[in-house]
Amino acid sequence: MRQGCISSGEIHCDACQSKIPYLERYLSINEEDGVETAGGELQHYCINCCIKKGYALYREEKGEKVLTFFTE
Ligand SMILES: [Zn+2]
Repeated sequence: MRQGCISSGEIHCDACQSKIPYLERYLSINEEDGVETAGGELQHYCINCCIKKGYALYREEKGEKVLTFFTE
């Protein structure tokens, strides 16, 4: 399951290991060996890693960049 979350400031990205700043958005996702699966381990990814992995993108909307997570 994928879920867009808001960081408490204590979350680290599981891909790049950087701390996700307080109130920054991040994605929690169940993955096993890099593949999304319901029974996989819960991973947290920062915005940059979500974009790299294709789980999120920035769209231009009325001249503003809007982040979209791809969640079910
Ligand atoms: Zn990251």
